[in-house]
Amino acid sequence: MQGTSARAGNWSRLQLAAEWLTDLVFPPLCWCCGRVDVRSCVDCLRALQAAPLQVTARRADKLDMESATGPHVGLLQSAVQALKYEGYKELAEPLAERLINALRWLDWSFDIILPIPLHSERLRERGYNQAELLADRVAVELGLFCATDCVARVRNTEQQAQLRGAERRSNVKGAFEVVTDVAGLRILLVDDVVTSGETLNECASELRKHGAAAVYGIAVSKGGQS
Ligand SMILES: [Zn+2]
Repeated sequence: MQGTSARAGNWSRLQLAAEWLTDLVFPPLCWCCGRVDVRSCVDCLRALQAAPLQVTARRADKLDMESATGPHVGLLQSAVQALKYEGYKELAEPLAERLINALRWLDWSFDIILPIPLHSERLRERGYNQAELLADRVAVELGLFCATDCVARVRNTEQQAQLRGAERRSNVKGAFEVVTDVAGLRILLVDDVVTSGETLNECASELRKHGAAAVYGIAVSKGGQS
C-alpha cells in the first residue's frame, strides 16, 4: 500500500512540475486584454460583469421566442469566443449570469433546459460543450433540470459563423435527433451565440415533431445576419 501512495505522490509532484513548466513556457494570458500571468484580470472581469444587458426578443419560425443578452461585438464577443474556442471555461459563470438576468426579465415559462449539443467529434476535440457549461449554471440558479441527453447532434456540421444565408439552413438540416420523450414539455434551448437562428430553429423543429409543447431559445450574444 505504501508503494502505491508513494507512486501517487510522485505522480502528483510530476503533474505540478509539468504545470509549472507549461506556465513558464506558455504563461496564462487574460482572455480580453492579454495581460500576462492571469487568465481573467480584475479589470476585464469587472467590465464584463458591468456590461449592460441589451436583450433582444423576437418570434422565430419554430421557436416561440428567441432572445440574446446583447450584440456579438466588443467585450461580449471576446468573452464568448474565449469560452468557445480558447478554453476559458471559467467565463461560463459571468456569461450565465447574463442569461439568468435576461430570463428573469423575459419571464418565459419552461420546464427543462437543454444546451444545444455538440457532435461527439467536436466534443472530443474541444473537451467540453460551452452551451452545456452555460445551461448547467442557468438550470442550477432557476432550480430546473438541465437535460443534456434529450437531443443528439447526429451530423458534424460546419461552424455556422463561416457560412452565409441559405447555406446556414442547409448546414443544420437534419443535424439533430430527439432521443428521449419530450412530449408536453416546455423547453428552453441555450446556446452561446445566435446568428441567423437556424441552429436553434432546427433543434426546435425536431423537438416540436416529438410533441414539445413550447420551445424557447436564448443565447449570450446575437451576431448580425449575413
Ligand atoms: Zn484583462
